[in-house]
Amino acid sequence: MDNLPEITRLIETLRDSKNLTDEGLAVIIENENATELLAQEADKVRRKIYGDAVYLRGLIEMTNYCKNNCYYCGIRRGNTDAVRYRLTEEEIMACCREGYALGFRTFVLQGGEDLYFTDERMCKIVSDIRKNFSDVAITLSLGEKSRESYQKLFDAGANRYLLRHETASEEHYKQLHPAELSLENRKRCLFDLKEIGYQVGSGFMVGSPFQTTANLIADLRFLQKLDPDMIGIGPFIPHEKTPFADKKQGELTLVLRMVSILRLMFPHTLLPATTALGTIHPQGREMGLKAGANVVMPNLSPVSVRKLYDLYENKICTGEESAQCRGCLEMRVTNAGYHIVTDIGNVKRS
Ligand code: SAM
Repeated sequence: MDNLPEITRLIETLRDSKNLTDEGLAVIIENENATELLAQEADKVRRKIYGDAVYLRGLIEMTNYCKNNCYYCGIRRGNTDAVRYRLTEEEIMACCREGYALGFRTFVLQGGEDLYFTDERMCKIVSDIRKNFSDVAITLSLGEKSRESYQKLFDAGANRYLLRHETASEEHYKQLHPAELSLENRKRCLFDLKEIGYQVGSGFMVGSPFQTTANLIADLRFLQKLDPDMIGIGPFIPHEKTPFADKKQGELTLVLRMVSILRLMFPHTLLPATTALGTIHPQGREMGLKAGANVVMPNLSPVSVRKLYDLYENKICTGEESAQCRGCLEMRVTNAGYHIVTDIGNVKRS
């Protein structure tokens, strides 16, 4: 459809009412011509709430051991060619010290679901970080756990949790995951995290195998129910040692439209311009910022393990020291017309 007046009307409705019918959403999700208009409106909304500020999250990829076997993920347990590593507590603390000196006030401890990191070990790591850095947000992204475990980690000092729901459609979930994983449990985790008091981030891959427009709309509807503080989306990118090796990667412009739609539907949300977006296009993160994103997540992991946290092919930023990564992103953010702030970067709810 080349109907620009109709697209403009739909985007204005979305901006003003923060909602559209499923039919209206489908039109702007599918229409290439909506990309630029959506970005312009999304940028206005982000500037009204967050100005030109871009928040930094320091990503510490603490382990690539994983007990799960998600069909899309390069660190799935079935990838027996993966060289596995886990950081020691001292290495994690060193990443935090370096990050703090570079102006990071949020650390994101991410990893596969690694049984070595028991609640006891994780709580010790979290409380040691908390003792050393009282003014930072400690974000965990360690997958599905029991409510009790989430509560213990919260009590130890963690205050944010990232857990993408991946897809809100039952059938699609089954196409992306083996039978031992369920959408029901994923959702249970997210609502438990919220009830405990975490600031919660969810999200999904764009262009994952078998994904339809109806699936994307279901993702938006689920997010409306969850009302998360952060929403992380990025393109699916194949990895050669997974069952999805031959699948097509997510399309850049579709990701950008989804970023803008999220900004318009959830004006206050924290929305990263993800590494995956930077991987499929050299200016992907800048485009993400211009489409409504307001967070970047540079890597603070030791360079020696960066290549091993190999979720998908050609992942960027695997060779540079943290300071270089920070410097490179600062330049990119400035060139895109925004500026990085040293701030804990809490959500600004109205
Ligand atoms: N284990 C934790 C979890 O399940 O939330 C955190 C680590 S997991 C590897 C982090 C995210 O990487 C997933 O939520 C998924 O969306 C993303 N991811 C994994 N494989 C990917 C791929 N091939 N392309 C793009 N993103 C991918």
